[in-house]
Amino acid sequence: MAFKLDKSAAAFAEAKQYIPGGVNSPVRSFRGVGGTPPFIAKAAGSRIYDIDGNSYIDYVGSWGPMILGHAHPEVTSELREALERGTSYGAPTLLETELARLITEAVPSMELVRFVNSGTEATMSVLRLARAYTKRSKIVKFAGCYHGHHDSLLVKAGSGALTLGVPDSPGVPESIAGNTLTVEYNDVKGLTQVFEQHGEDIAAVIIEPVPGNMGLVLPRSGYLDKVREITEGYGTLLIFDEVMSGFRVAYGGAQEVYNITPDLTCLGKVIGGGLPVGAYGGRRDIMEQIAPAGPVYQAGTLSGNPLAMTAGLATLRLLSETADFYEKLITMTAALCAGVQAQAESYGFKFQFHQAGTMFGLFFSEKPVYDYESAKKSDIAAFNVFFHAMLEQGVYLAPSQFEAAFMSGAHTHTDIGATIAASGNAFAKVAEYYRQNKR
Ligand SMILES: *Cc1c(COP(=O)(O)O)cnc(C)c1O
Repeated sequence: MAFKLDKSAAAFAEAKQYIPGGVNSPVRSFRGVGGTPPFIAKAAGSRIYDIDGNSYIDYVGSWGPMILGHAHPEVTSELREALERGTSYGAPTLLETELARLITEAVPSMELVRFVNSGTEATMSVLRLARAYTKRSKIVKFAGCYHGHHDSLLVKAGSGALTLGVPDSPGVPESIAGNTLTVEYNDVKGLTQVFEQHGEDIAAVIIEPVPGNMGLVLPRSGYLDKVREITEGYGTLLIFDEVMSGFRVAYGGAQEVYNITPDLTCLGKVIGGGLPVGAYGGRRDIMEQIAPAGPVYQAGTLSGNPLAMTAGLATLRLLSETADFYEKLITMTAALCAGVQAQAESYGFKFQFHQAGTMFGLFFSEKPVYDYESAKKSDIAAFNVFFHAMLEQGVYLAPSQFEAAFMSGAHTHTDIGATIAASGNAFAKVAEYYRQNKR
């Protein structure tokens, strides 16, 4: 049966009548790859199903959260029970304390935790806190790192902002963006220079310790230690944005793997188990500045929502109680990467394959990728050929070279084998594309 997206195409046209660009988050539009986004009808385990009746092995996992796979039976049944108890109270519950406790156990640098509704909200709130605590105004971020869409951090940002080529959005006042200094990731010298110039004014350095929003990029050996050392030297707070890497690179996030203690950490994605949750936390003395414990205001009508807490709790419990969950998933991820890499090499392609725990990525570049500049040298046209070939064979990858891919506990060896085989056919199309376009 030929691959068709007729119903999705009609649905997309209809959606554009009512929603800007037809989507509620830009990368979903498939604009970067010039295609129709499949409209999704349902998902289960490792698969998602669109309204045209196509099914896909899913490596987007809702952009990271679905580490247990879709509609995990235990998460779903706990949610069903929670639903019967009411969906929101705007008053404290036992669920919030329990999820906060699990998080502080997993990520010991987070002595206190505040729940919000998205990763964006977490990074926005944490910056206010860092500025209040240090009484300084400047922030350092890294080119290609994405921390959500609020003004201070939408400067040289990754993810959709990078895919669509609008790194700085109109509507971000210069007075705000001007307090955000940008440095290349993995560049110790650049960071040192910024600190030599502005160190006494820098409230915080915010970093994706393992960036996943310019494609998956890995820290060079000793790099994160240097970032910790420099920030400490200037009394600047180090914020790890682990919204993506938290419970993904390892149960304790990148800070566990690289053995770094940040002052503050942002979480999201996995901790919501597929419902909208973000969190920020860290050193007790800093976090106690947050209202009502302290003067820094931050609030939320639906923060700590009982359904969201229930999904997060069920997810973290399953992650921590399933024997060897991460070891197995990391081994599966490595097997997938090795298989796809072997397919690429059989066509003579020496592309860059990266893995960090249960996250992975492939850059269509023959040169090493270690920052935003080197990531941008990837062959986007070749990626697009590969992407569409995979989609047509029922493998759902992020529709952008500059996004990571995610493995889930629901993916099977059969899924992995099918994906590797599909990648062989897709690389054949890339080879054909190069023949026609004389590299
Ligand atoms: C996804 C992401 C965010 C933003 O989270 P939202 O829930 O989409 O607002 C922030 N930081 C990082 C590292 C992310 O990957």
